[in-house]
Amino acid sequence: MTMRGSCLCGSVTVRLPETEKSVNVCHCAMCRNWCSGPWMALQVPDAQISGDTLKVYKSSGFAERGFCTSCGSNIFHRPQLGPELAVSAGLFGEEGLELASEIFADRKPDFYDMTPAPIRKSSIRMALEWLPKLAWRLISRK
Ligand SMILES: [Zn+2]
Ligand SMILES: [Zn+2]
Repeated sequence: MTMRGSCLCGSVTVRLPETEKSVNVCHCAMCRNWCSGPWMALQVPDAQISGDTLKVYKSSGFAERGFCTSCGSNIFHRPQLGPELAVSAGLFGEEGLELASEIFADRKPDFYDMTPAPIRKSSIRMALEWLPKLAWRLISRK
């Protein structure tokens, strides 16, 4: 079964080859700056994203983010090297979605709270997971 989502204005569409219900939440400062709150996303490496108003912004030395230039909806985040594509959960209907994990949980500011996810990862744990992976991709890049 496929899932289909779109931005607020409908110009950018996202198709998932399979149903994905696990919502992953990021509390990092960049995501909060990007969308004025925790970013909620589905990890979907095979998502097909299309639309004339899609723009990609290099948000850091290793990652890029896509958004709609017409309505401003946040569309995706992915590393420049690697397959880990995440798309905004809000592009899809909320039916069946489940809170699965929180990352950069220690960066969550005090002014909001949410039901704790089954998996919570701190910024140190994220660095330990990602730095070796990214370093290896950089040195093995052709
Ligand atoms: Zn749009
Ligand atoms: Zn983030």
